[in-house]
Amino acid sequence: MSAMSETTQQITGRFAPSPSGRMHLGNAFSSLVAWASARSTGGRMVLRIEDLDPRTKDPELARQIIDDLAWLGLDWDEGPIRQSDRGEVYLEALERLKGLGLTYPCFCTRAELHAASAPHASDGVYIYQGTCRGLGEEQIAKRLETRPAATRLKVPEPADALGAIDFDDLGWGPQHEVLARDCGDFLVRRSDGVIAYQLAVVVDDCLMGVNQVVRGRDLLSSSARQIYIAHLLGFTPPTYGHVPLLVAPDGRRLAKRDRDCDLGALREAGETPEKIIGRLAEPLGLAERGEPVSAQEFVERFSWDAVRSHRDDIVIARA
Ligand code: GLU
Repeated sequence: MSAMSETTQQITGRFAPSPSGRMHLGNAFSSLVAWASARSTGGRMVLRIEDLDPRTKDPELARQIIDDLAWLGLDWDEGPIRQSDRGEVYLEALERLKGLGLTYPCFCTRAELHAASAPHASDGVYIYQGTCRGLGEEQIAKRLETRPAATRLKVPEPADALGAIDFDDLGWGPQHEVLARDCGDFLVRRSDGVIAYQLAVVVDDCLMGVNQVVRGRDLLSSSARQIYIAHLLGFTPPTYGHVPLLVAPDGRRLAKRDRDCDLGALREAGETPEKIIGRLAEPLGLAERGEPVSAQEFVERFSWDAVRSHRDDIVIARA
């Protein structure tokens, strides 16, 4: 191998699907870019099934997602690893955060949170006002008699070392987030005992050696929280690359309930992987209109410049 590959860190990317429904074109797009970004530099891929939420526990859905990824021509070197098998690892990380004195029990209900929160930050994230931050031992014990608590992580004061998080996103460029202003203290464990996505994803990415996280733009605003957790746990955060979202012609974001854009329906309708990848490559200028493109061809044509050239949502015409 060349001297360059000896000095450049090998990329390890990941697929991290939540089996809450069949994969749709938007999920296929971010999976394709994550894979091409790693593979185009000879990097590795990990497949992790994010099934901590009880609504994602259906093994058949996980099986379909794995099958859809392989059908598209994407592959991985490690996994599938299921988050539902890793409860202990997350609890250990939660204990470490507690040991830092940075967590507290929160009893706010969803309705209370929305009523008390400041105008929404980007992407529908509410800004927690610290309602439960100052509860004393006695108040906590009394409330625990009537309802279970969630666990929140304190964010630093804006002027503190981690108060402002700066990072350079591969798709969206330089980002600057002040956690206290942009999200406030956030959940690391839900009141039903489920470890929150923000904590599980950091623990997994960092312990699995993932150093490049590629995903939809809807998760851009989560990255600062994840970088913060990574620092608290003593990990080096990965590089992030967010990709545009796919929307229907009316501007609505594709959701798992849009059956006609899910891989099951597309496969049944006789679409081929090459036709689907061609449709996803075209808005990035990586394919002609209607041109079939294989996964391998997509890797050969791929560049982050192409992704950056298309920052708007991608309007996907129904097949
Ligand atoms: N599991 C998440 C999803 O399917 C993705 C999480 C991530 O990429 O960080 O939407």
